[in-house]
Amino acid sequence: MKIAVIGGGAAGMMAAITAAENGAEVIIYERNDRVGKKILATGNGKCNFSNADMGPDYFYGNDKERAWKVIEKFDEKKTVSFFENAGMLVKNRNGGLYPTSGQASTVLDILRQKLAAKNIKVITEQLVKEVQKEKNSEKIAVITKGTKAVYDRVIIACGGAAAPKTGSDGNGYRLAKNLGHSLVDTVPALVQLKCTEEYLKAISGVRTDAALELLIDGKKAGCESGELQFTDYGISGIVVFQLSRTAAYALKQKKKVTMYINCLPEFTDETYKSFIKERKQRLKDADTVETFFTGMLNKKLMLLFIKLAGLKTTDSYKKASQEKIDKVFALCRCLPMHVCDTNSFDNAQVTAGGIPLAEVSDNLESRKVKNVYFAGEILDVDGVCGGYNLQWAWTSGYVAGEAATKKQ
Ligand SMILES: Cc1cc2nc3c(=O)[nH]c(=O)nc-3n(C[C@H](O)[C@H](O)[C@H](O)COP(=O)(O)OP(=O)(O)OC[C@H]3O[C@@H](n4cnc5c(N)ncnc54)[C@H](O)[C@@H]3O)c2cc1C
Repeated sequence: MKIAVIGGGAAGMMAAITAAENGAEVIIYERNDRVGKKILATGNGKCNFSNADMGPDYFYGNDKERAWKVIEKFDEKKTVSFFENAGMLVKNRNGGLYPTSGQASTVLDILRQKLAAKNIKVITEQLVKEVQKEKNSEKIAVITKGTKAVYDRVIIACGGAAAPKTGSDGNGYRLAKNLGHSLVDTVPALVQLKCTEEYLKAISGVRTDAALELLIDGKKAGCESGELQFTDYGISGIVVFQLSRTAAYALKQKKKVTMYINCLPEFTDETYKSFIKERKQRLKDADTVETFFTGMLNKKLMLLFIKLAGLKTTDSYKKASQEKIDKVFALCRCLPMHVCDTNSFDNAQVTAGGIPLAEVSDNLESRKVKNVYFAGEILDVDGVCGGYNLQWAWTSGYVAGEAATKKQ
């Protein structure tokens, strides 16, 4: 049986290895000059390839239940076994699974060695322009500039639209559309958020622990805690990435998106009240407003909150309005920021949306064209930050590769 895999990313390589292990003759078409370019960029170069804490709640898409059923077929334990059996030592860092080497290139080395061991042909610098069903036959044609070859099965694993410099620029959706597939609206996810506040330049670069609450049209739509980074255009950090998907779809629907930022999440409302009372007592002789607030938070943030409350740092603390002093305290625990956009796909780690799971079987075969399969980010499944997107790539690659060879 001859199988072509379109795209030599995580999903494509896993699909190719699985199909070859089942005895198929496999060829990978990759547009870049080498396979696995994106893998090298993952996990800040360390490759968070899966997570020991796996569950349906870590995944998004229009059909989460079916996505989870697919993941159960090749879960994080099977993924770890796959890499360990090939010789990779695995480290668990608070649940996140990484190669012990601390190098994403280790994951790619293992995959490339497997491709070679299984005699999988890799043709690079070959952009697939069309995938077509052959007339009067169940075979599938793969067309590049100047070439056409025919296969028993084709697995499309072209990725989504995120990080186009790595080769996944959304062109896979066109291949799928030409086969009769539709597309769930795509938006950048695991991405920074742009905000309208003019003061951002003053606090750009500040990092602080924070609890974030996302509001869509005034209603709570999510919350996350962790390290937040202010930038000159908005907010960044894993804590922001985790909420970005929900924000991106709301913005696409022209909804109002607000983020409440609590820079002192360790306090409860009650303990904060006592803290304020005690601070006012202890520092009642502070000369200026700045002196009174010194030591609470990052200095740039504190100076901003003083300004936003309508005070000057040099104002006498004793003469300052208590209402304004209380406003500064309030801003420390609830800074509202107005989100106007996300950064583009260039900066996103993943694409939300894609080919609907309703248009593929449980084994990821196209319901539009027999003998065509999909794997990876091109499908309408994405995960939260923490190894879940690569897990989907391994899972879907394995399931498509296995099904393509097992089918009668
Ligand atoms: C900076 C960054 C960091 C990340 N970190 C993590 C992390 O630590 N953990 C995690 O789980 N996820 C992470 N992700 C997400 C994860 O890398 C992706 O979800 C996953 O790699 C998607 O795999 P894929 O095989 O579906 O697609 P891709 O890896 O995008 O591979 C698709 C391949 O297809 C090729 N291609 C596209 N179109 C064609 C065509 N027409 N013809 C031929 N070839 C084609 C592309 O060149 C590419 O090589 C990160 C992403 C980025 C950008």
